[in-house]
Amino acid sequence: MKLLDVINPATEELISQLPIDDGAAVAVKAQKARNAQAAWAATPLSERMACIQRFRGFVQAQLDDLAKIMSQETGKPLGHSRNELNGFLGRVDFFLAEAEGILKTETFYHQDGMCEQIQHIPLGLIGNISAWNYPWFVGGNVFVPGLLMGNAVLYKPSEFAAMSGLAMGRLLHEAGIPEDVFATLIGTADTGNALLAQQLDGMFFTGSLATGQHIANVMGPRMTKLQLELGGKDPTYVCADADPVIAAQSLADGAMYNAGQSCCSVERIYVHASIHDQFVQALVDTVRSFKMGDPLAADTYLGPLTRAPQIKVLEDQIADAKAKGARCLLGGQRSKGPMGGKGNWFEATVFDKVNHSMALMRDESFGPIIGIQKVNDDAEAIRLMNDTQYGLTAGVYTPKEQHAREVLSQVRAGTVYWNCCDRVSPRLPWSGYGQSGVGLTLSREGLATFTRPKAWHLRSN
Ligand code: NAD
Repeated sequence: MKLLDVINPATEELISQLPIDDGAAVAVKAQKARNAQAAWAATPLSERMACIQRFRGFVQAQLDDLAKIMSQETGKPLGHSRNELNGFLGRVDFFLAEAEGILKTETFYHQDGMCEQIQHIPLGLIGNISAWNYPWFVGGNVFVPGLLMGNAVLYKPSEFAAMSGLAMGRLLHEAGIPEDVFATLIGTADTGNALLAQQLDGMFFTGSLATGQHIANVMGPRMTKLQLELGGKDPTYVCADADPVIAAQSLADGAMYNAGQSCCSVERIYVHASIHDQFVQALVDTVRSFKMGDPLAADTYLGPLTRAPQIKVLEDQIADAKAKGARCLLGGQRSKGPMGGKGNWFEATVFDKVNHSMALMRDESFGPIIGIQKVNDDAEAIRLMNDTQYGLTAGVYTPKEQHAREVLSQVRAGTVYWNCCDRVSPRLPWSGYGQSGVGLTLSREGLATFTRPKAWHLRSN
């Protein structure tokens, strides 16, 4: 049996070796899940909810251990891992509160013996191929509502968050979700491809644009529901009337939290020329204050990159930016880090004098690096914010709400922020324009997406 090596990105130590689900193993789990789905869908919603409620209780009770597992395998600072798990509990609460309303059959017309109804039924067997950067968030956005709505779920966590994925499966089963109804699939792209080969009623993917395009190519001809939550190159505009220090402090966190490895990390900043210098100084000061350290230490803000190959991506973006005239104000290279020279460490990096000829302002960086570009007015800022293949989030900093609304209504992004950034709410849909993906999770619609509406025409006379 092949094994997956789980490596701690902070130290390069081997943490664990996990049995990989090869094609045959995936096919067996898929068949079992398909067979088990109808009984799960027929289980009263109150019982399905009780399982998820128990699962929530287990996650809460074991939060510190689960945070430690996530920090060890991804390098995420322990405080950030705890934040994610606490946020996850809030999302579960939202899904539990809304599930019944979503599944209610709706009657729209009842007259002269004719009745028209919409019934919401589960999709059936769904696959979920997931990312490592927020394993509980992005996995939970699918399997919690997916299970509540009555689907069976085949969940493939990222190979960089496999231990967290196994913990999710263990706790779901302990909470009463039948073993065959939820299965974790361990492995790399091969396991993902084996999952794509199964007869699925829905495929939900979170990850990079390149993998999303591959999955779209495979799934397209099958006429199966497909959702793709992909990358971003999220911009923010700091207006002339914004407080440069407050905006800089907020945006430094938006760019560097989780070492910049969030799909909605701030990746581009456009600042009005009149406050550029004050803003840049405050941003550099704030970023400099972020403590790099052992991910398991309580005061660490900046951990390592989860994936070693991302270092080369950042180095290439930096070399390209420098060659084209950008100015490096802080950082700019890989770091020996705080763990004796081992690990995927990169300095928190700030550039200004950037422009859109540079990969740094066009391609997703997914690391602790930010580019700042001077603009002269709203029109220039809006044009630059929209000059991207992506469209996940965008923000504006200004004291005037009406001004922010005017700017943000012209920006193509699924989520927009006024005086805040890098924020996700279970109550609001999470979706993207352009190459940021298709479909959505979260909100009431993020529950409904795991059902199909069945139209009933009923004549009683
Ligand atoms: P990735 O595409 O490398 O991997 C994602 C998953 O796909 C993993 O489970 C991986 O094993 C699997 N996979 C890789 N190649 C495959 C293939 N050929 N066939 C089938 N499966 C395959 O992405 P990643 O590095 O895990 O995640 C980072 C990316 O995810 C970033 O671009 C980030 O912006 C994006 N992301 C988006 C959201 C969102 O909500 N839009 C959330 C989190 C992350």
